[in-house]
Amino acid sequence: MQDNIYQQINEQTDIVALVSEYVDLTKRGKNYMGLCPFHDEKSPSFSVSPEKHIALCFGCKKGGSPITFLSQIKNISAHQAAKELADKLGIAFGETKTVEDPNKQYYQLMTDASNFYQFALKNSESGKLAYQYLVDRKLEPDLIDHFEIGFAPDQIDSLYKMLKSKKHSVSDMMTLGLVKQNEQGHYYDVFRNRITFPIKDEQA
Ligand code: ZN
Repeated sequence: MQDNIYQQINEQTDIVALVSEYVDLTKRGKNYMGLCPFHDEKSPSFSVSPEKHIALCFGCKKGGSPITFLSQIKNISAHQAAKELADKLGIAFGETKTVEDPNKQYYQLMTDASNFYQFALKNSESGKLAYQYLVDRKLEPDLIDHFEIGFAPDQIDSLYKMLKSKKHSVSDMMTLGLVKQNEQGHYYDVFRNRITFPIKDEQA
């Protein structure tokens, strides 16, 4: 289904017009040539074939279909590039159900853990000491909130119990490195009695 739409977009996109937005093209027989936008060069090795719907560099081998070209030149996902081209062509796109992120449960688990640590920073006795320590280190309360800084309590399994109460699986907790199992088979928190800083990318 997806492949069909991609193929349709690639075939219907005017690849010469698309590439011309980024590269000065000169007609050479059936094809067009220009200076490669992906690598530094003095003589043109970037070739566009309207017949084959391909824009490809003979030097660095970058480029390809219109979707590939656009995703590379704009540094966006193929999905995003396909959507942009589909919009221009008036092809319905995006109605297809997006695939559920396989890591969704991990993100949720991490969010719950982070919220727990943030709560502990402000509401547990030892957390309050940690909070004071941060303030003494000149971290403004706004920054502490902004960076979602938290505190892992010094109890053996407080995070584990909280996550379990939220129905997270023990194997997920262990996969994410938040919980381990001791030789007696008991689960325990990996992070204890320490300040926590969640790490995120720009999408989180
Ligand atoms: Zn190149």
